[in-house]
Amino acid sequence: MTDCLFCKIVAKEIPAEVVYETGRVLAFRDIDPQAPTHVLVIPKEHHADAAALAEADDGLADDVLKAAHAVALQEGVTDSGYRVVFNTGPGAGQTVFHVHAHVLGGRNLTWPPG
Ligand code: IMP
Repeated sequence: MTDCLFCKIVAKEIPAEVVYETGRVLAFRDIDPQAPTHVLVIPKEHHADAAALAEADDGLADDVLKAAHAVALQEGVTDSGYRVVFNTGPGAGQTVFHVHAHVLGGRNLTWPPG
């Protein structure tokens, strides 16, 4: 998609601190981290949100979840606990409409989220 911020990160037109990459998935640090570990995991292929990703009938959602797990292992947050969040739709706080999983950890995470 030409006018998508995260597609531009995939295309290396916008810089990002990439921490994990496969042929189909990219993970990079959030520009405004909300926890010591705050990484965004995206499919390289454009899908607007988690609902669209779930309907992409090719195992891509599985790849994103596995990448989130790999990032958590790499960041060393699996023992202390971490959160994987898909804000889905404006009402849930989604601001970038290229699906992304937030991987958050490294501090106590309270519940319920705001
Ligand atoms: P959302 O609100 O769930 O859509 O999350 C979008 C996230 O993208 C926010 O946490 C932003 O801080 C993050 N973000 C926006 N622009 C960039 C960027 O250029 N690089 C890395 N993260 C970004």
